[in-house]
Amino acid sequence: MFENLSERLSGVFDKLTKQGALTDDDVKTALREVRVALLEADVSLPVARDFIKAVQEKATGQSVTKSITPGQQVVKIVHDELKHVLTGDQDPGALKIDNPPAPILMVGLQGSGKTTTTAKLAKRLKEREGKRVLMASLDTNRPAAMEQLAILGAQIGVDTLPIVKGEDPVQIAKRAKTQASLGGYDVYMLDTAGRLHIDQELIAQAAAVRDVANPREILLVVDGLTGQDAVNVAQEFDDKIGVTGVVLTRMDGDGRGGAALSMRAITGKPIRFVGLGEKMDAIETFEPDRIAGRILG
Ligand code: GDP
Repeated sequence: MFENLSERLSGVFDKLTKQGALTDDDVKTALREVRVALLEADVSLPVARDFIKAVQEKATGQSVTKSITPGQQVVKIVHDELKHVLTGDQDPGALKIDNPPAPILMVGLQGSGKTTTTAKLAKRLKEREGKRVLMASLDTNRPAAMEQLAILGAQIGVDTLPIVKGEDPVQIAKRAKTQASLGGYDVYMLDTAGRLHIDQELIAQAAAVRDVANPREILLVVDGLTGQDAVNVAQEFDDKIGVTGVVLTRMDGDGRGGAALSMRAITGKPIRFVGLGEKMDAIETFEPDRIAGRILG
């Protein structure tokens, strides 16, 4: 995993101190290359700058161990710091679903992969944790989206709340709660309406649903390929609704993953899962190691 950055740095490190401690200059020279790697991975400039500063403070003065080269040592410090910034202490995959029926609210822009992710997570909860899950679509503006969730539910063997015409999202959320309680479900997932942009109505609707459902988790689904835009969207959703975590979709694409670092650094919210394709199994718990490797290239 460290190879590429190490290779890239090898020329630089040939000139570095070979014994004693890493000097200020050694570290600076190396971090210039790391900065380029971060920017190439689409990490935003202020985030890259802060990150480099943190690494610089940790690396300067560290004694150079004999077993690895100074170059490898800096790369290791960079990698450890990336991991630290990306996850903090939380276990990203552990959803708070005690006290059944536990509501999970799914929010995000239209096209981000919200409905697909709702179904993927439901399947995961059912198969890995043996949970009984009920899914409900609150997208009253788009009947096709409600049907899409029902189709996915049938495909993966997870129940969906029957569609009743004329209800508003808050009424649907209340009905989902009642049905989940009466039906002995462990979890009910509310797939809110998405729009192309964040607007007043979208936020008001999501907030109203949040207030009646009192969700244990509010997961924001964002398209990982949209880079800095994804981070701005997350910031706004978090300010207005409050989220407990982020799911980055389309990480099977060729984005370098820099959005993950910016996401965490700017919003402070953990990335919980990544979407890796269109299939119902194409979701994984967020693995900082994998993203760190991808960012470092
Ligand atoms: P929504 O409007 O946010 O509910 O978005 P959808 O769930 O309908 O997803 C929009 C499209 O993105 C669909 O064609 C999905 O199959 C696709 N999609 C969702 N997640 C992923 C992912 O992680 N990777 C890829 N490649 N496609 C995805």
